[in-house]
Amino acid sequence: MNISQEEKIEFDREHIWHPYTSMIDPLPCFEVESAQGAIIKLSDGRELIDGMSSWWSTIHGYNHPVINKAAKEQIDKMSHVMFGGLTHEPAVELASLLVDITPKELQKVFFSDSGSVAVEVAMKMAMQYQFSRGKKGKNKFLTIRSGYHGDTFNAMSVCDPVNGMHEIFSGVLPENYFADAPNCRFDSEWDEKDIESFKEIIEHKSDNICAVILEPLVQGAGGMRFYAPEYLRRARQLCNENDVLLIFDEIATGFGRTGSLFACEQAGVTPDILCLGKAITGGYMSFAATLTTTEVATTISKGKPGVFMHGPTFMGNPLACAIALASTKLLINSPWHIKVAEISTQLAEELGICKVFTNVEDVRVLGAIGVIELKDAVNMAEIQKMFVEEGVWVRPFGKLVYIMPPYIITTEELTKLTSAITKVVNALSD
Ligand SMILES: *Cc1c(COP(=O)(O)O)cnc(C)c1O
Repeated sequence: MNISQEEKIEFDREHIWHPYTSMIDPLPCFEVESAQGAIIKLSDGRELIDGMSSWWSTIHGYNHPVINKAAKEQIDKMSHVMFGGLTHEPAVELASLLVDITPKELQKVFFSDSGSVAVEVAMKMAMQYQFSRGKKGKNKFLTIRSGYHGDTFNAMSVCDPVNGMHEIFSGVLPENYFADAPNCRFDSEWDEKDIESFKEIIEHKSDNICAVILEPLVQGAGGMRFYAPEYLRRARQLCNENDVLLIFDEIATGFGRTGSLFACEQAGVTPDILCLGKAITGGYMSFAATLTTTEVATTISKGKPGVFMHGPTFMGNPLACAIALASTKLLINSPWHIKVAEISTQLAEELGICKVFTNVEDVRVLGAIGVIELKDAVNMAEIQKMFVEEGVWVRPFGKLVYIMPPYIITTEELTKLTSAITKVVNALSD
């Protein structure tokens, strides 16, 4: 493009919508020229150490030779072919690998194009399952407050009602049930009170509830909260007792982020339906999967209309499948377990310092996720600029300054990242 950098930024401001932004008063955007490993290179030559993994996704860093090669090889065969009536090796190999690495009861795979769609698919599966069993009244969902499951209507209907701005869409948004968010922290002692509100709802409303949907262990965009594995075990038990399916949304937590390949492993709980996305392609492109049990899949298929009613145009896209396959193989054949544990220890040590700052409410770390919760919401434009000036890419929201770096980050890069964060957070305290 034969225009200056300023003109590009200006055009962007005028014409292009960014995630959750105003078209009247958008926050400043930085132009990226390229990215490599854990480094994002801006057009003005500045280099930033990536603390976000582009929202949980680029676990192997940017521009990885193995994934690049898989992508190029697949493009030279075919980048897309419809999935109705046709299949291909990348889809078969990827499905086989996903069935292999997820809990053994999950045998049936539905590919889609984004996390929100994977959640829509999961919710539709749960409803069709109950419908097929003659339980038409079971068409609502139970979830917990402070959750996030995506931006489409059904996904939004199970996001936190306050953060998710349900009032704007009331009347259109399906109304679901919300239990209190768990208070027991990931590593604190279990308190039976934590499950009471969930128990009360599921026991009284089970005639209307087809499934529970939860982000296991980590509530991501809804508040970066970590909660006790026991909650998931109790939820599983209550679902079984009340004839309700259990959906785990591991779109953020999947692929090693919490220290286990999938967060549900830490609770020893298997869901009936599992949503995967974000890191599934190593952040190369948008793609997602919804896995379910043979029982759910066959029940749907025996009922009316005899098929599952969903089929996106780009379902099972071969390029995305080939990339997801390469990324997932790369992950499981690497010592990711050790790397995530090392990142975790380093985050706990280096971010722990912030606990004493007067503006800090809490510091918490789980797997390769580090969170500093402030007492007050940050000024985004101001803090974002401070981080860029420090040479790091960190994108806070509300009161939360958090990072989930790519697993390939070096100890030195991570120290630069955490030092920049401590410096900026400290500077904001006075
Ligand atoms: C990001 C996210 C989604 C939505 O995924 P998109 O690809 O943005 O549609 C759903 N659930 C969870 C837990 C997420 O973190």
